Amino acid sequence: MENLKYKRILLKVSGEALMGDQSFGIDQKVVARVAQDIQKAQALGAEICVVIGGGNIFRGVSVAAQGGDRVVGDHMGMLATVMNCLAMSNALNAMGVAAVPLTAIAMPEICESFTQRGAKRHLEEGKVVLFAAGTGNPFFTTDSGAALRAAEMGCDALMKGTQVDGIYSADPKKVPDAVRYDTISHAEVLKQGLKVMDAAAIALAQDSNIPIIVFSIHEPDGLVAILQGGGRATVVSD
Ligand code: UDP
Repeated sequence: MENLKYKRILLKVSGEALMGDQSFGIDQKVVARVAQDIQKAQALGAEICVVIGGGNIFRGVSVAAQGGDRVVGDHMGMLATVMNCLAMSNALNAMGVAAVPLTAIAMPEICESFTQRGAKRHLEEGKVVLFAAGTGNPFFTTDSGAALRAAEMGCDALMKGTQVDGIYSADPKKVPDAVRYDTISHAEVLKQGLKVMDAAAIALAQDSNIPIIVFSIHEPDGLVAILQGGGRATVVSD
């Protein structure tokens, strides 16, 4: 076992990352690639929790934007996160990695319900645990769900896999001279309103003293490199 920089981590992957080049849904090639990164990180001795968003399938705000009930929309969004979790746990299991999806909204025929005790037990048994259905409440996001579960599970870091290799002062795809940060504090992210995770998630991570590591989910072995003390990322910590 290597001496890892972060031993117990929560990996947050946005639903959009799973779309690959598609405009909707799940690209199994991307799922398999991310699953490989998780497998390698676990082989190093990391304890891995995973939260996947649902934006590749459904977001509650789209219902509200058309005059519908936001709460119903958010229920649909949370169900989308369950589908993504099932796809990822299935891919991990197919690779021989024991992985358990745990849902915040009971659906016993499909997967086990989340409890902190149960999730810790699975982790200690060497399984990857995937947290589905966000926080289980409308008006939240899976970023907040990720920060919440990272705090509950006592994670050493919240690893936020994004489309780019860290946090920039502005969107680097739109502003060519945007500045990239190697390190920044939670407070500064909130003050500058940097678009990395929603404010509730940042504040919860700050309160729980959990660093947020922002890196590109598209960089093969990026996760492993960071766990080994290298890699390319922005580290958010106070
Ligand atoms: N959602 C929710 N409560 C939660 C987490 C998620 O209501 O605790 C719903 C919400 O409608 C959200 C959707 O699930 O838009 C998908 O999650 P999110 O937008 O965070 O996914 P991502 O942007 O990471 O793909």
